[in-house]
Amino acid sequence: MRMSQYFLPTLKENPAEAQIVSHRLMLRAGLVRQTSAGIYAWLPLGFRVLKNIERIVREEQDASGAQEVLMPTIQSAELWRESGRYDAYGPEMLRIKDRHDREMLYGPTNEEMITVLFRDGVKSYRDLPRNLYHIQWKFRDEVRPRFGVMRGREFLMKDNYSFDLDKKGAIHSYNKMFVAYLRTFARMGLKAIPMRADTGPIGGDLSHEFIVLADTGESAVFCHKGLVDKDILGRTIDYDGDLQPIVDEWTSLYAATDEMHDQAAFEGILADQRLAARGIEVGHIFYFGTKYSEPMKAVVAGPSGEPVTVEMGSYGIGVSRLVGGIIEASHDDAGIVWPESVAPFRVAIVNLKPDDGTVSATCQKLYQGLASMGVEALLDDRDLRPGAKFADMDLVGTPWQVIVGPKGVAAGKAELKNRKTGAREEVPFDQVVARFG
Ligand code: ATP
Ligand code: MG
Repeated sequence: MRMSQYFLPTLKENPAEAQIVSHRLMLRAGLVRQTSAGIYAWLPLGFRVLKNIERIVREEQDASGAQEVLMPTIQSAELWRESGRYDAYGPEMLRIKDRHDREMLYGPTNEEMITVLFRDGVKSYRDLPRNLYHIQWKFRDEVRPRFGVMRGREFLMKDNYSFDLDKKGAIHSYNKMFVAYLRTFARMGLKAIPMRADTGPIGGDLSHEFIVLADTGESAVFCHKGLVDKDILGRTIDYDGDLQPIVDEWTSLYAATDEMHDQAAFEGILADQRLAARGIEVGHIFYFGTKYSEPMKAVVAGPSGEPVTVEMGSYGIGVSRLVGGIIEASHDDAGIVWPESVAPFRVAIVNLKPDDGTVSATCQKLYQGLASMGVEALLDDRDLRPGAKFADMDLVGTPWQVIVGPKGVAAGKAELKNRKTGAREEVPFDQVVARFG
């Protein structure tokens, strides 16, 4: 992508309305714009990041055996009356009337809708288990939308729902999500710690929140330091096998959000291993048994023909919140430092002298060389002084910068800069492209 043609409205000054660093940087780097309170438009650069996060979430869901569907954002009130949640949900639900005066709502979550789809489609225990997910916009009329996309009113969530014949099966489904979530967040370069959590309005009796530690986080959390550096990506996961040992490995160390906090148990941890911190909730998993299947009569025929009310769980990931969460975890004074897996572009080519034909031709060649390998680069071909370009590139945060100027062209070399470490290295032009293979 050529910067001279790209819709990338960066800001030099810190926007006054932004209280936390991720919100400031998302506005300054031209990722999003607020269109009304807690509602955001995603601009090209931010949308690329959102799509990358969505792709990782999708790949890990698919690997776990969950199947993707797409349910609508608008739901009928009737559906929510069946579970009894229409009146219980409160003012966070955006209630709408259509032209025929029918009561509708903009979905804050989808337990009711999926339960009806399941109930109508599955009649026998032979068709269990099932796990369905979608990645769809939600609306919650938050009393205090703030921190940019971190607490929006309209936000993108991956939510899925598992259906099992019995509790044992349901716990296995829960464990699959527990492990899939560990992998999902780790692939985004995040250290997300699963913590015992309150089940809140979703209900149920087993629940973990996945929390990224950050000083600006809204949750107070308490955990064993050993959890911070545990690694999941180095292991082979067999989703059909027994996942309990992996879950136990994580849950045997103390970790809880403040609602579930047990001060005595926490104090039992050696002093230097205790971590009381703040964090951002990026995911939440629940096992809630028959809370929805019972009132909504999601019943299948069991092995001897007897009716069995299915056991359910639901699992959410804050896809749009993650964009802010990743920036909270990975930035410096100059701007965003994207982990490679979610970066809007892996490489930016900085043309220091666009009016110099040789320099521009060299940049063009590198740009095309990268494209031929499937690496789409951001090419800064704008007519600006080098200082302004460097500042913008650091702000935008691509993991690599390939800097090309007249001196380099004379020497046959580009300067390669690593955004995270700041390390610079001279690389002959004919070797640059191969570095990103
Ligand atoms: P919170 O406690 O932060 O209000 P929640 O517990 O109400 O969130 P869940 O129902 O568990 O949220 O939703 C699943 C995920 O959706 C959360 O873990 C979070 O990452 C994300 N999420 C929830 N509310 C918002 C919001 N207002 N803006 C952005 N993301 C959100
Ligand atoms: Mg939650």
